Amino acid sequence: MSQLRAEDFAQNARAALRDPVLTGALRRATDTFAVRRTGAIAAVPEWEALRTQAAAIKAHTLARLDHYLEQFEQNAKAAGAVVHWAGDAAEACAIVRSLAQQRGAKRLVKSKSMATEEIHLNAALAQDDAEPVETDLGEWIIQLAGETPSHIIVPAIHKTKEGIGQLFVDKLGIAPSSEPKVLAEQARTRLRAHFAAADLGISGVNFGIAETGTILILENEGNARMTTTLPKVHVAVMGIEKVIPRFADLDVFLRLLPRSGTGQHLTTYQSLLTGPDPHGQGPRELHLVLLDNGRSRITGDEVMRQTLACIRCGACLNACPVYQSIGGHAYGSVYPGPIGAILTPQLAGMHSAGTLPFASSLCGACKDVCPVKIDIPSLLLELRRRAVAGEVVAPGGARGEPARGGFVERWMWRLWAWWTKGPRRFRLAMAMARLGERLPFVQRLAGPLRAWQSSRELPKLAPRSFRSTYRGSGS
Ligand code: SF4
Repeated sequence: MSQLRAEDFAQNARAALRDPVLTGALRRATDTFAVRRTGAIAAVPEWEALRTQAAAIKAHTLARLDHYLEQFEQNAKAAGAVVHWAGDAAEACAIVRSLAQQRGAKRLVKSKSMATEEIHLNAALAQDDAEPVETDLGEWIIQLAGETPSHIIVPAIHKTKEGIGQLFVDKLGIAPSSEPKVLAEQARTRLRAHFAAADLGISGVNFGIAETGTILILENEGNARMTTTLPKVHVAVMGIEKVIPRFADLDVFLRLLPRSGTGQHLTTYQSLLTGPDPHGQGPRELHLVLLDNGRSRITGDEVMRQTLACIRCGACLNACPVYQSIGGHAYGSVYPGPIGAILTPQLAGMHSAGTLPFASSLCGACKDVCPVKIDIPSLLLELRRRAVAGEVVAPGGARGEPARGGFVERWMWRLWAWWTKGPRRFRLAMAMARLGERLPFVQRLAGPLRAWQSSRELPKLAPRSFRSTYRGSGS
């Protein structure tokens, strides 16, 4: 499976921009989600109050995460679930592998889960010839294509229906078609056989409720419900930040998440699972793997902690002009877009993902749409500051190298600092800039600035400075 690297973000982004099929598919999909979201939230007058409430619940929970996780564990165990704690990706994969090995499970199905993508669970299970079959339609398509997801909630957002039709011709040997209904029918027929034969089902978790030990899984296709009910063993991998205190809190998050992500009032299915099925008709075993993988380190950072409030709705990706132009693969991370630009450097370290916080225009669209009010632009700036100061600590404990701009950029900033440090120098600089504005060669800047100017207008200076206007007013 090909996986681009976060280190190569600039090259990846350039390559993505040269792909008209990709940029066209992204534009259509993100525009559609934006229109749907606007319509869905217009019907909720208390939208802003809900966002504030959700942000408060998340802030409260993250500040007392240890307490709520212990409560969740206690209640999940009381309901019959087995709880496993995984400190990192390797430990989480080892737990799931051993559960499958001990039961001789070789036929595995999996519903869409970002946590399992984060730990590369499929590759770990493939070592035992037990790679799970992805059952979410988008995930199944990219598994067939040997790719990785490019969006948090729409994994195959980068694909066109014509491309998917050709993929099915190549991989499944079916007659060519680009008709979504025909393609979905093909997928359904094949996936049903996998569900019927599966020994073990793997899922993610949208929310874990501390007061009852319940997990909630949201989806639209019914594949997660089949994954979690047909096999005799269900393993759910849950990032520890997914815990919320009370069942009643779901009322807030269920009104926010689907509307923000896909513009739906509610997802088609909501599966609430508390322990294994007591009547023996569903799974006999429910295993909950609570994944840390750097999260508890982030909760210890009072500034960056709000990153973990994310409920993975995908709205910030759909709203981001950078994501809309290059898609998810360029980020070289399971978590792309604005949330990925703040989360990945904290999970993987600045040494490998240090360019991602710089992959933003800081327009603020992500903050405006975030249902839990994460201040992504401020966190991007904070990570940039830490990167420049070499303060960001990588998972191994090593400090990242101070980020340094290019030679020209460093000298431009030094010059700027010098010009602006004294009033005379500043006045002289402004006078020269006014003069330069009239010179044609300055209007078409040279060198590295030409690329910058190719898509931007240089701002015009006011004909008179504020100082001279003030002096002229006689005040
Ligand atoms: S950061 Fe906010 S908008 Fe982005 S995926 Fe997370 S919850 Fe959604």
